[in-house]
Amino acid sequence: MGKETLQKIAEVRERLRQLQRQQTASNNGTASAPPAPVIDPPPARPKIAEMSAEVVDSNPYSRLMALKRMGIVKDYEKIREKTLIVVGVGGVGSVVAEMLTRCAVGKLILFDYDKVELANMNRLFYQPHQSGLSKVEASRDTLLHINPDVEIEVHNINITTINNFKLFVDRIRHGSLSNGQVDLVLSCVDNFEARMTVNTACNEENQIWIESGVSENAVSGHIQYIEPGKTACFSCLPPLVVASNIDEKTLKKEGVCAASLPTTMAIVAGFLVQNSLKYLLHFGTVSNYVGYNALADFFPTQEILPNPQCDDRFCRQRQSEYREAQASKPKEEPVVEEEPAIVHEENDWGIELVATDEDLPAASNSNATTANAGLKFAYDAPAANGTDESAPSDAPPAKAIDLSSLQAQLKGL
Ligand SMILES: [Zn+2]
Repeated sequence: MGKETLQKIAEVRERLRQLQRQQTASNNGTASAPPAPVIDPPPARPKIAEMSAEVVDSNPYSRLMALKRMGIVKDYEKIREKTLIVVGVGGVGSVVAEMLTRCAVGKLILFDYDKVELANMNRLFYQPHQSGLSKVEASRDTLLHINPDVEIEVHNINITTINNFKLFVDRIRHGSLSNGQVDLVLSCVDNFEARMTVNTACNEENQIWIESGVSENAVSGHIQYIEPGKTACFSCLPPLVVASNIDEKTLKKEGVCAASLPTTMAIVAGFLVQNSLKYLLHFGTVSNYVGYNALADFFPTQEILPNPQCDDRFCRQRQSEYREAQASKPKEEPVVEEEPAIVHEENDWGIELVATDEDLPAASNSNATTANAGLKFAYDAPAANGTDESAPSDAPPAKAIDLSSLQAQLKGL
């Protein structure tokens, strides 16, 4: 490209930025005010080739790498090899993307087709001056500034259309840093159709993903880990949601704008990223399902097994693959490892955290035909749940439910 062309492009870009600023100002009702001086943000720090554990104030990774010294994570630096797709960068997804960026994941691929609006300012992450920008582009700017070591790829598209679905599947299959399959997909969307789209793509691609949701009344939420063939997919069973114990008649008001709280969204985002880190870096227990009832500060958990009669043929295929893999595995004796007690090196007071059996939550119900206390299915199951392989073969066939009625029932998710 010639020098003149490049100059022309730079001029057009500057003109576009001016127009965007004017548009934002007029949207904000301050059209008559003179445009605010544009202050370019200070440059981001230089990239860092390797994560260091050196304890100096200038090392952005010293606190993360300390997880190794404390005996929590074996190879924290492996995080930089990981690629995650975040679908939806709204109240939950944007906070998820920021947490992952600060945790130094290798690459983030963001999908959203919405714009930042002032009505989003009750939540975290976006700022008023970003109003009018696409959420994915506003996210990229902020995230690269926080941590330039993370590769950020953005797609300002709706994944539910046929062509965009193909692109979404392609990014699952080839989106990683080595152009292979990504490590994890996180769903942070607010509607049934987009969740089903993520579900379909992940069943097809045999891709592990984690679904998240926050209720329309802003006082409950959940995350659900979905491993095709091993756990229930989003089509296997009606979605499990947290019972709010609020009279439904006073709650459901058609056409009324959904409520949202930065607190509930950040708590759900925190659970989602915590579970992701545990899965990616192999520490702690990866939860199948964690619910959050904000009114009672109650966190129900649940195991959810797949439904052999799931409508999604790829789900059924993954289930039989999983059964075959389990059957061919040699039986292993559980190994109990003695972990040394961890004491902070600079712990002047000699304080230790001691886990006792009493501290641990009660074992969760491994049978998903009934929801644990505090949880309920979003609607009545359309078919016999057959959540274990001993389900009777004469179970009633799945009742056909059309998408619009499902969507109506799921509006409260
Ligand atoms: Zn399924």
